[in-house]
Amino acid sequence: MAKIDLEKVTKRFGEFVAVQDFSMNIRDGEFVVLVGPSGCGKTTTLRMIAGLEDISSGTIYIDGERVNDMAPKDRDVAMVFQSYALYPHMSVFDNMAFSLKLRRFAEPSGEGTVRWQRLPRVEVDRRVRAAAKQLGIEDQLSKKPAQLSGGQRQRVALGRAIVRSPKAFLFDEPLSNLDAKLRVAMRAELAKLHQTLGSTMVYVTHDQAEAMTLGDRVVVMDKAVIQQVDEPQTLYDHPRNQFVAGFIGSPAMNFLDASVVAQDDGMFLDFGPFRLRVPEDLSSHVRPHTEKTFVFGIRPEDIYDRLFAQMMRPDSTVTARVEVKEPMGADLFLYLKAGELTIHARMGPSTKAEVGDTLDLYFDMGKMHLFEKGTGLVII
Ligand code: ATP
Repeated sequence: MAKIDLEKVTKRFGEFVAVQDFSMNIRDGEFVVLVGPSGCGKTTTLRMIAGLEDISSGTIYIDGERVNDMAPKDRDVAMVFQSYALYPHMSVFDNMAFSLKLRRFAEPSGEGTVRWQRLPRVEVDRRVRAAAKQLGIEDQLSKKPAQLSGGQRQRVALGRAIVRSPKAFLFDEPLSNLDAKLRVAMRAELAKLHQTLGSTMVYVTHDQAEAMTLGDRVVVMDKAVIQQVDEPQTLYDHPRNQFVAGFIGSPAMNFLDASVVAQDDGMFLDFGPFRLRVPEDLSSHVRPHTEKTFVFGIRPEDIYDRLFAQMMRPDSTVTARVEVKEPMGADLFLYLKAGELTIHARMGPSTKAEVGDTLDLYFDMGKMHLFEKGTGLVII
């Protein structure tokens, strides 16, 4: 196990900056997920930790040791890829044992010298069987990869990493070749594996649900730059900018332009077709921005059918027309229009509105977000 520290790590491909000033301290035993859209630099960051990609500037430390110039094989990290990269002519056992059989370890041999020894066969056997048991593939050890399902192959790839007892595991979209159901099952197994092994894990995905469920902390990246590093719930509740707010959460947060207005005794947000009151406790944050326009954000689950809302304030209610209805069983997703504005709401299945009906929506304004236009930085 090891901590991994990155200090202002930058990667350039010619003029193009793929990763810029990536700084983070990954704790010993922590599960860190790098998430972001395609091309944001996640894989490049992981490959720099593994040593598969040179660093243009900055420093990486593994367990306190600077590894910038250390060969990948000496870093003692195991990488698991989306493609399983198994040897087709070898059995599952041999695939898992392969790296151990090649491995040499130093044994003191008197007077300060060391001898490089292979791992004894019984130890290789013990490690492979223990990992296979942990992954539920003990009865597959004599099969060839072609005789396995996708999920089993991915388990073998994981097993091959586990037997090495590396300082850290690096995962590059390891589940993306699996079908949706298997992905969810393997996700839970990975979480369990992390609990059992307690190893440091760095995991790359573009799937925000995977990031939220697996990560102790999640790093959201966009255009080569870290946007936010936080625990999943903190990312969800307190996104630092509009990009993070829109990327984390499904269905995505609603964004509507709104200007701040003072009216009667309180502060309001004016959307054009309607106005909503800013709750008392947030008014003081909004007041200095009177007359300015912002991007207002609210998650679909913070919009209620007024009939089922616990609290009701007339100045937190909007009338909208149902355009599309998506029943999901436990949830009902509605796309609604209020004037020209589109609103996406997540309701309970008891809401009976049909397409074309108008519906009174209650906005839980205590959950609102406000972002600066242009920079996207959060105001509230
Ligand atoms: P994805 O989810 O699609 O894998 P990613 O976030 O992992 O995306 P990276 O693979 O890290 O993205 O790539 C980051 C950027 O660097 C991309 O724009 C990519 O085209 C570029 N890039 C990656 N490798 C090279 C290379 N060897 N030469 C030039 N550009 C590269």
